[in-house]
Amino acid sequence: MVGGGYAGLHAALTLAQNGRRVIVAEAGPIGTGGSGRNGGVVNAKFRISYSALTQNHGIEAARVMHDIAAASVTHLEDSLSRYGIAAQYQRNGTLSCAHNARAFDALAADADWQKSQLGVTGLTLLDRNQTHAETGSTRFCGALFTPQGGTIRPLDYLYGLARAAARLGVKIYTDSPVLQVVEKTGHICATVPNGEIRADHVIYATDAYSAITHATAGLRRAVVPFRSAMVATAPLPASLAQEICGQARSYTETRRMMRWFRREGDRLIFGGRGALGAVDAAGAFARLERAMVAIFPQLKTHKISHRWSGHVALTFDALPMAGMLSQRQHFVAGFNGAGVAMSGYVGHCVALGLVGAPVNLGLVARDTLPKMPFFALRAIGVRAITAGYETLDRLGF
Ligand SMILES: Cc1cc2nc3c(=O)[nH]c(=O)nc-3n(C[C@H](O)[C@H](O)[C@H](O)COP(=O)(O)OP(=O)(O)OC[C@H]3O[C@@H](n4cnc5c(N)ncnc54)[C@H](O)[C@@H]3O)c2cc1C
Repeated sequence: MVGGGYAGLHAALTLAQNGRRVIVAEAGPIGTGGSGRNGGVVNAKFRISYSALTQNHGIEAARVMHDIAAASVTHLEDSLSRYGIAAQYQRNGTLSCAHNARAFDALAADADWQKSQLGVTGLTLLDRNQTHAETGSTRFCGALFTPQGGTIRPLDYLYGLARAAARLGVKIYTDSPVLQVVEKTGHICATVPNGEIRADHVIYATDAYSAITHATAGLRRAVVPFRSAMVATAPLPASLAQEICGQARSYTETRRMMRWFRREGDRLIFGGRGALGAVDAAGAFARLERAMVAIFPQLKTHKISHRWSGHVALTFDALPMAGMLSQRQHFVAGFNGAGVAMSGYVGHCVALGLVGAPVNLGLVARDTLPKMPFFALRAIGVRAITAGYETLDRLGF
């Protein structure tokens, strides 16, 4: 296994449970990638709507994708109980909050479409006042509540998976970047700084962190890494803690440059895209903090205690990817910033496929890795797209 995030560890767990000997090589400490940096929002969705999937691929494909999304959350929940992981998971559902009337109408239309075409139940539209009562913010025109999913402590979840894998005999080597993978007659040979690993198969599970070594060059060219940043407030006084996100759900905003937030104990954590550049920039965090105060003016003078960021892997079609490069080389990647539940599930499914079990990954399954055109210009492309999205958001489209 190349990569010790949710995808790699879930794949390792499933293989070990099926009697396979597994080695996980992780380039850094456990938690180096997105699995150690995310906001802990667990939701059953893709970055593209099911109605858009239907337009492009037909209703049956959209139904399969809906089932995959639901299964990803169920798989996370089952894994927590199967492996005895205490990561403070709360199944409180998620609220998609409309930043303007147009976005609210789109949420309402999407809810109707999901109910009538996919038979989805439990979706509830909230008006402006109900959304205010739920979030503590007057900024939203309304919201759509989805009962699946909720919140989790992401690093506790990851460490719990690593401990469970170790109990099942999986060998996890940290600070062990895979430098090269060569397919020899009858086996795979992976080079790490201290030696070589010989295996029947390799699974690449490196998502947005595929540029660390040349061994994952194919994946690197198939995704666009996009910096995503988060801040956490200092503990809120009791009155504010009751007012802001008192139901402790997970919350996303409908902008193209999406923001999301949730309570973590007595703090608010707030995340967003648009923290551009190869390294964390003070200006990007300042923008994020201004966005937080615009939604929650109550926090104007409240201290931020933590700031961090990481990369998410965007794909051309906004869907994750899994498949085989050869009979012995497999890949999972491209979780588009929504991988807490999905990356583990897709990793698990790839492992199931490897041991010969039937799996249906719908549109996630790929024959080959796509190659991004104009690869060398991707940083400029990302900046241009971001600027375009920010302008459309500002103009209210
Ligand atoms: C700031 C931030 C907030 C986010 N918030 C959310 C959220 O709230 N909800 C949600 O659903 N998703 C969220 N995400 C996305 C989510 O975290 C990812 O989709 C998910 O963790 C991907 O898991 P993974 O196992 O595929 O990849 P990762 O967790 O990124 O793991 C890949 C690993 O591969 C390792 N690696 C790379 N190259 C090599 C090599 N050559 N040899 C060995 N190891 C290698 C890396 O070190 C890394 O640890 C967020 C992401 C970020 C960055």
